[in-house]
Amino acid sequence: MPSAISPSKTLNVAIIGSGLGGLSAAIALRRQGHLVTLYERYDFANEVGASLSVASNGSRFLEQWGVNIPAVKPVVLKKLIMHDWKTGEVKSEYGLGDYKARFGTVSFKLSWKCIRDSADTLSKEYFNFHRIDMHNVLMDTVREESSEELGPRGSIVTNHKALNVDHETGLITFENGNTAMADLIIAADGIRVSQKVQRLYTSLFFQVSDQGKNWDYSFCGK
Ligand SMILES: Cc1cc2nc3c(=O)[nH]c(=O)nc-3n(C[C@H](O)[C@H](O)[C@H](O)COP(=O)(O)OP(=O)(O)OC[C@H]3O[C@@H](n4cnc5c(N)ncnc54)[C@H](O)[C@@H]3O)c2cc1C
Repeated sequence: MPSAISPSKTLNVAIIGSGLGGLSAAIALRRQGHLVTLYERYDFANEVGASLSVASNGSRFLEQWGVNIPAVKPVVLKKLIMHDWKTGEVKSEYGLGDYKARFGTVSFKLSWKCIRDSADTLSKEYFNFHRIDMHNVLMDTVREESSEELGPRGSIVTNHKALNVDHETGLITFENGNTAMADLIIAADGIRVSQKVQRLYTSLFFQVSDQGKNWDYSFCGK
């Protein structure tokens, strides 16, 4: 299993938005040895969500990243059944009983954590999770203590709504008046942000600090 790889330079990474996308990016980056801070506008008091289907193209990453899959309380999907919406008559069935054998990511070994939690029987399945359970466990994975396997511990800063990003300096300004500097800023602020905010950081911005002058990083602006 690919474990945390020491980067040639450790970056101070700021991720704006602590949804599933931001948390996933944080876990992947800490595993590469980078120092990650997530800035979230809310405090997670009103998190909502329905069922999330995660097929093996997603579950392989959860496994690879050492996410504690049993803690997300998965339901394993075994069959898709289509009913007539008026009569309830079964129109078709699509079995997924052999899903793991057909699509399981057998080339990956289990992470130490999955082994610890005896998740072998669960990995590479077609999972259904409740979004809030997934969100909580991804947050735990970001904040888990530093280790060779997981990389440096990440942090999540709540009640920090980003208002502005200075692409030249790497300075982020928050609604509460605080500011933060980063070498790399990732926008993971979801689909429903206002146009005004979205224009500030529409994709991925690199800002390499002075120490990184020799890096061959392209700069993606507005
Ligand atoms: C009903 C429904 C069912 C779905 N089912 C599935 C499924 O089965 N499988 C699947 O893979 N996907 C599913 N999806 C899609 C999946 O939920 C989304 O793709 C995913 O949650 C998007 O994550 P995100 O991190 O990009 O955005 P979000 O989850 O929207 O996170 C963005 C975060 O950024 C924060 N933020 C926004 N602006 C700022 C700011 N200025 N400063 C700081 N923080 C900010 C927000 O508060 C939020 O926490 C479903 C979606 C819905 C609505």
